[in-house]
Amino acid sequence: MTSLKHTRYRQFFPSLNGNNQQIAYLDSAASTQVPEQVLSEIEKYYRQGHANVHRASHSFARNATNAFELARKTIAEFIGAKAQNIIFTSGTTQAVNLLADGLAHLVAEGDHIWLSEMEHHSNLVPWQQLAKRNNAELKVIPVLENGDIDLGYFRQHISDKCKIVAVTHVSNSIGAMQPIPELSRIAHQVGAKIVVDGAQAVAHLDIDVNRLGCDYYLFSGHKLYGPTGIGVLYGTEQALEQIKPSVFGGEMISKVSFEQSTWNTLPYRLEAGTPNIIGAIGLASAVQFLNQFPLKERLSVERSLLNYALQKLEQHPQVELVGKPMMRVGIIAFNLRNVHPQDAATLFDQYNVALRCGHHCAMPLSNTLSPRGSIRLSLGIYSEQSDIDQALDAINKIMELFDD
Ligand code: PMP
Repeated sequence: MTSLKHTRYRQFFPSLNGNNQQIAYLDSAASTQVPEQVLSEIEKYYRQGHANVHRASHSFARNATNAFELARKTIAEFIGAKAQNIIFTSGTTQAVNLLADGLAHLVAEGDHIWLSEMEHHSNLVPWQQLAKRNNAELKVIPVLENGDIDLGYFRQHISDKCKIVAVTHVSNSIGAMQPIPELSRIAHQVGAKIVVDGAQAVAHLDIDVNRLGCDYYLFSGHKLYGPTGIGVLYGTEQALEQIKPSVFGGEMISKVSFEQSTWNTLPYRLEAGTPNIIGAIGLASAVQFLNQFPLKERLSVERSLLNYALQKLEQHPQVELVGKPMMRVGIIAFNLRNVHPQDAATLFDQYNVALRCGHHCAMPLSNTLSPRGSIRLSLGIYSEQSDIDQALDAINKIMELFDD
């Protein structure tokens, strides 16, 4: 039994203290709170002098460019990558769209794009639209009853018609973790590229893109204690070279005439226009915040808390878990017997418990596992046992209301 005693990470998050002390914030899968360190870094940047990057030679511009490129390096190292392999985007959604447009030339009529049944709409709709445009076929790895993907089905049915495999690392609905190294191996055996949606993984796992063996890895800053509007598209050098630019303008060009234009080198070729400078700086600051704490301790504290919540919910006679994946990270989905998840959401709020209810932007999975939707409890670094207890207490109060 691991002890639940640890650094009180909550103290570093102003939004969870003061007047908000009583809030049990269990919606980190939607967006995480921002630590003081990140807030002051953002303020410091603007106070010390802001300018556009990569252009002027004055000191504000030099400082901004240095901070922006240092942010790229810090974020790259966090996932075991090099700075030149990091493309800044506005988030995971934009990163998937950039790939679905930029890799369209790899997908011919009759080819296959494989997804899993548990994809977030952001890693589904862009591929679906690409398949429609190119007369290709979208293929789906089904989920088993417990919410794990059917790896055997995938192994059996994938063929060299497959050009792209796009899978989530961790399901945003049920927390199921995918065996990415194995999925990468299977995709590469048929010559396909593999895109991994890391939006729900990057704050909760030790990510090393080399160990994962994927071609692309994507995530959003606002689920990693950073600001909104910044995200990352990582790719191996060879994989990034294959992306054709689909957003055109300043920064991404090398030479322009009215007749034609040539493109800049990577990563700038895929970053048209003024980038989200403060977003990158803020996200790098969030990464530095996390790097202060021993990774093993941080992850094991979260695992203990997840196990605690899981055990309590499993034992509760009026709670029905949605999905029981073999490997789970940070997220638990459940329903309360005879209570619609939407009604439950409103009541949880009255007891100062912030949870998310609905289909969690993954309608196909929701339709399979729980058509009426579910309640999702998700953890962040600041989550504590008292938050879980507050949620359990709220469950009991809600069930009393529905008891007749
Ligand atoms: N994929 C997954 C697994 C997610 O959880 C989310 C956010 N809920 C996204 C993609 C989309 O991320 P964003 O809205 O930051 O682009």
